[in-house]
Amino acid sequence: MSRTVILDNGHGGLINNVYQTSGKRSPNWSKGILYEGMFNRWVVNRIIEKLDRKKIPYFHISPEYTDVTLETRTNRADRIFEVNRNVWILSVHANAGGGTGIEGFTTIGNTASDPICDIILRNFETDLPHIVKRYDRSDGDRDKERDFQILKKPKAPSVLIECGFMDHPTDYTRLWDESYLSDLVNSLVRSVEEIWLG
Ligand SMILES: [Zn+2]
Repeated sequence: MSRTVILDNGHGGLINNVYQTSGKRSPNWSKGILYEGMFNRWVVNRIIEKLDRKKIPYFHISPEYTDVTLETRTNRADRIFEVNRNVWILSVHANAGGGTGIEGFTTIGNTASDPICDIILRNFETDLPHIVKRYDRSDGDRDKERDFQILKKPKAPSVLIECGFMDHPTDYTRLWDESYLSDLVNSLVRSVEEIWLG
């Protein structure tokens, strides 16, 4: 396969302590409000450091701390794809709305995203053994399928990972937890490396 990752941290970040996105945050529980776009940047920034150290190439379509629109992210990814077809998009998110655990999404139907997402979710099984995996095995693989814009619109294969539910007490604690972040990031880096080596 041998594909280079295009990293995307969903939503805006914090600028001078002001969150750039409405909604998309945890309740104000013991550790304070977890802003999804802040968390997504923790994950992507840590991935970037590890890829730099390993000299594994990557692209990044949302380096700003402002909330870059999905249209702009898609256009940036498409411009990369036009000159390099061997790429894939990893969009990092955290969930809300009831539930617990981690999950990976691809577009509906059998596409190039499916085997990529399956590598990530398979590695989660080894690297995050105690975390609930929210799989949909009805079509023979582990991912769930939705036509989210960041999955459907870009020309490159695209995978969206939800790292936990901000509004679930256990997941909320975990999303703040250094050892969970470390395990999660190491697992994602392992998958990025595996997909890059092909
Ligand atoms: Zn999100």
